Amino acid sequence: MASPRFYNSLGRELQSFAPQDADTARIYTCGPTVYDTAHIGNLRTFLFEDVLCRALEFLGYDVTQVMNLTDVEDKIIAGAVEREISIDDYVSPHIDVFFRDLERLHIRKAEHYPRATQHIPEMISMIQTLEERGFAYSVEGSVFFHIDRFGPYGRLSGVDLGGAKRGERVADDEYEKDDVKDFVLWKAAKEGEPSWDSPWGAGRPGWHIECSAMSMKYLGESFDIHCGGVDNMFPHHENEIAQSEAATDVEFARYWLHSEHLLVDGRKMSKSLGNQYTLDHLIARDIDLRAVRYLFLSVPYRRKLNFTFSSVEGSASALRRVDQLRFRLETTAESDDSNSGIATACESLYTSFREALADDLNLSAALATVHIFVRDANVAVGQRRLNTGDRQRIIEALASVDRVLGVLDAGDWPTSQEGTDDSESSDDDIQTLVDARQGARIARDWAEADRLRDELVGAGIVVEDTPDGVRWKRE
Ligand code: AMP
Ligand code: ZN
Repeated sequence: MASPRFYNSLGRELQSFAPQDADTARIYTCGPTVYDTAHIGNLRTFLFEDVLCRALEFLGYDVTQVMNLTDVEDKIIAGAVEREISIDDYVSPHIDVFFRDLERLHIRKAEHYPRATQHIPEMISMIQTLEERGFAYSVEGSVFFHIDRFGPYGRLSGVDLGGAKRGERVADDEYEKDDVKDFVLWKAAKEGEPSWDSPWGAGRPGWHIECSAMSMKYLGESFDIHCGGVDNMFPHHENEIAQSEAATDVEFARYWLHSEHLLVDGRKMSKSLGNQYTLDHLIARDIDLRAVRYLFLSVPYRRKLNFTFSSVEGSASALRRVDQLRFRLETTAESDDSNSGIATACESLYTSFREALADDLNLSAALATVHIFVRDANVAVGQRRLNTGDRQRIIEALASVDRVLGVLDAGDWPTSQEGTDDSESSDDDIQTLVDARQGARIARDWAEADRLRDELVGAGIVVEDTPDGVRWKRE
């Protein structure tokens, strides 16, 4: 099997991928700033990273993933100071919610989740190295990085260095492209702020240094893949490269993969528009999180994803086709003298699924191959021509691709979201609908029969016509 190819933001081209050592891919993914609950845009990025790791494993590599938790920066300090509590007390509940939300979307855990506040000595030592090498200078207890001493500055983001003036500084953690200035490595403490001792006096690290220090600690000075959302490219990732390579003289990360943003109803998410959804907001609207995971998978990571409630509904119905296949399999007989073509369909699913993953993680193509397989399997089931062993073959094929997708098995997901149990229709109500649909079919009123079937599907009921009559069950 040929190596996978990924679009490397560094160089802006598709490149074939191979890990630096043996078979293990070492991956660093910028994690959440834990001052608030992650919104679904953040979660799109984390889900992309989850699937990237799963896909690399599917393609035969071992993976070590590190995701930092940014637990010290401007907004966190402001929040802790305002409430008169420690940073730890301020961020702890947000960290718990973050892990709960990952689980809710079946995002697998990384191998390491280092916290910035637990790696201050590593950051101080790196800043000292930069000072010794002439890349850093201190001003009134803060330390800044000299961007004009680092020749390749701007190589990742292509930022225009023309406007940069020698010696101009920016001390904020986040800033815009027209602020290409010396950035802060260590910030002198302001009165009343939490701080750590350092060779430059009391203060705290800037945002960028944390990712350099922690990625190197867990992955080595040079590793394979660095990921984040597109907004991280400048200044965050540009600064990470500058300070890391200035400190070590070796290439920091070899491949940079950036995922595009999630929009809601075609617009950027923002508090003022009231469209900055968290998973709790979706659950409150009875949205099925399994369908949300599917929706996130269905758009290639380098394309913007427009989140709408109708697109979630579309994802739910795509999943229903998979669920119906499983349900129908339970009652379909197998025989030795059939000619189902299922074994061949499984082979071509494996091949095209792998190819899609290796093509810059093209998950929409990967899902299309799954649906072709489901369609073919449904036809074979419908025509009652399964060979001996086909049921098992189909189930295994779905389970195999689901190691990457993490969404095909309804049994892994809650049957209903919190608070929806009360609204479930009773068995008698459903039987009445099923009987009415049967009556409409006997009367050849196909429009009414279809309407009733849609109503049943809308209520989460799967209906199956078998030679022994109509069967139904809840999804
Ligand atoms: P933050 O907690 O703001 O540092 O963001 C965590 C991750 O989410 C980073 O990789 C960001 O690039 C990413 N991110 C932020 N906003 C969005 C969005 N609207 N869509 C997708 N990813 C985002
Ligand atoms: Zn980072």
